[in-house]
Amino acid sequence: MKRRSAEMVTETLLTAQDPDPVERLVADGARIILSCDHASNRVPRNLARLGLGDEALGRHIGWDIGAAAVTRRLASALGAAAVLAGYSRLVIDCNRDPDDSSSIPAVSDDIVIPGNRTLSAAARRARRAAVFAPYHAALTGLIDAALGRGVVPALISIHSFTPALGGTARPWHVGILWDGDGRIASPLLAALRGDAALVVGDNEPYSARRPAGYTMRHHALERGLPHVAIEIRQDGIADDAGAAMWAERLATVLRPILSDGTLYRLWQK
Ligand SMILES: [Zn+2]
Repeated sequence: MKRRSAEMVTETLLTAQDPDPVERLVADGARIILSCDHASNRVPRNLARLGLGDEALGRHIGWDIGAAAVTRRLASALGAAAVLAGYSRLVIDCNRDPDDSSSIPAVSDDIVIPGNRTLSAAARRARRAAVFAPYHAALTGLIDAALGRGVVPALISIHSFTPALGGTARPWHVGILWDGDGRIASPLLAALRGDAALVVGDNEPYSARRPAGYTMRHHALERGLPHVAIEIRQDGIADDAGAAMWAERLATVLRPILSDGTLYRLWQK
């Protein structure tokens, strides 16, 4: 009986009124795949906004402000496929191991998340099945399809970060996160640093080495795909004009890197 009740919770988390847990941008034959783990601040209707108001859900704790707009525009500019998560990271963080305690945070940046305070194991499984699993299945499906065509795809993950943390300003306009395989990260760092107006972080404001986020680790590092994670400071992409400018800037520096056919190989340490 216990098992059956867990399955029922899984089946009922998303209702017919809730949008799909994954937004897919299709590009036939694409060898570049973009991922946006924190694209949306949406919450399934059955979770009653997790007990939060618009202000809290609209903040960075709910999503990566501006990241979805950059991802959609960059996918278009590069002819890339893209997968964007459909629900807030407060429902379940698609860039954390679902077995990690931070996967469904009860507190985020000092804000208590009422809907996450006391969760049963079944409720956790329901979120994983309804939100986390389909997002990662979409990425796995795109990667497997490319490999099936004989193409080793490149994975580029788009995130955004807050201008300040704990009262300390973050100077970087953009940060490049990577660990070991620098085939995209190294030339991308060099290209961005060619613009004297930009402060470019190398594994800042977060390090991909302690450890890498779940998406990069699971889909790229473990499978040997060329990859990079790009963090853009939110104040640069908070409106559509900023997102458009950053998508164009990134497309310009990424195009020569991604046009090198030798990139699309499994990584040999
Ligand atoms: Zn993020």
